[in-house]
Amino acid sequence: MPLLRNDWSRAEVRALFDLPFPELLHRAGSVHRENFDPAEVQVSTLLSVKTGGCPEDCAYCPQAQRYHTGVDATKLMSTEAVIEKARQAKAAGASRFCMGAAWRSPKDRDIPKVAAMIREVKALGLETCATLGMLSGDQASALKSAGLDYYNHNLDTAPEFYNEIIHTREYQDRLDTLAHVRDVGMKTCCGGIVGMGESREQRAGLLQTLANLPAHPDSVPINRLVQVEGTPLAGTAELDPFEFVRTIAVARLMMPKSMVRLSAGREAMSDELQALCFLAGANSIFYGEKLLTTGNPDTERDLALFARLGLRPMQIVETAGTVHASIEEHVEAPTEPAHSCAA
Ligand code: SF4
Repeated sequence: MPLLRNDWSRAEVRALFDLPFPELLHRAGSVHRENFDPAEVQVSTLLSVKTGGCPEDCAYCPQAQRYHTGVDATKLMSTEAVIEKARQAKAAGASRFCMGAAWRSPKDRDIPKVAAMIREVKALGLETCATLGMLSGDQASALKSAGLDYYNHNLDTAPEFYNEIIHTREYQDRLDTLAHVRDVGMKTCCGGIVGMGESREQRAGLLQTLANLPAHPDSVPINRLVQVEGTPLAGTAELDPFEFVRTIAVARLMMPKSMVRLSAGREAMSDELQALCFLAGANSIFYGEKLLTTGNPDTERDLALFARLGLRPMQIVETAGTVHASIEEHVEAPTEPAHSCAA
C-alpha cells in the first residue's frame, strides 16, 4: 500500500472508525511515530484582523451577521497595527503569522491591503498564513506573489451533510478555492468541524473527502463544535469524546504526513481527553489568542499539560540556523475562528 493515498473508499474509512478503540489508537500511534516525533507538538495561535459582520450563514459561526451572538463587527486592521502584532509574535518566538478575516471572500480592492500586510510580515522573517474566505485564481496568485506561504480554507463537513450547515456557498466553491491555492503553489490548511449533529458516516465522509483531495492538506484542523448562543447549532447534542478521538486517529491514519491539529473546542476538553488525542496522532494545537501575554490561565494550563505529558513545542530550524519554537501566530475572533479555521 502506498504511504500517501488519495483513493479511499467510504467503506475503508468506516472500517477504520469501527475498529476497537485500543486497536485504532495503536495503529494511529504507530503511523504517527513513523512520521513524527510523538513528543513534539506544533503550537498555533490565532488573532483576527477583521472580525464579525460576515454575510455567510455558517450555522456554527458567531461571526455571521445574521445571528445575534454579541460579536461586534470590526474594520480591517491597519497594516501598521498588524505589523506591530507580528513583531510581538516574533519576539515571543513565533515562526509563522496568520491573518484571518471574516469575509465571504476578499473584494479585489482588499487584496492590495492584505498583500501589503503579507509583504511586511514576510520581511520580518516570519512565515505567513491567511484565512480570508473564497479566493479566485487571480486573488490566490496575487497573495502568493506577496509572499503568502499557507492558506486556510476548511471543507467543514461531509458533502452530504453540508446543506444542513451552510446555504450561502456550495461545497464545490470550497473545492475550487483549494484548487486555486494549490495551483499557485501555496500550502493548504484544510479540515472541518465535528459535533454539529452529523453521523459517524458523515464524519467518515469529511475525512474521505480531505484525504482524496489531489494533495493531502499540509495541516488538517479538526475542530470540535463550540456552541455559541444565538447560532442555529446552539443546543446540539454533544459528541461523545471517544468519537472525537476516533476522528483524530482516523485522520492520522489517512493523512500520515499532515499536521493534525486540535483546534476550536480544545479549551473545553479535559486534560485526559487532550492526552488521548495526542496518543491518537494529533500533533498541533490551537493555543488560544494569548500567545503575546504571559500568565493567563489558559496558557499556564497548556504549559502544565505539556510538562505533565513530557511534550515540547515543535522546533523549526531556519535557513540562517536560528531555532525557533514552531508557534504560529494566527488572527482570530473572540469566540470562534473565522471560516471555522482555528487553522
Ligand atoms: S465561518 Fe467564515 S464564512 Fe462562515 S459565517 Fe463565519 S466568518 Fe463567515
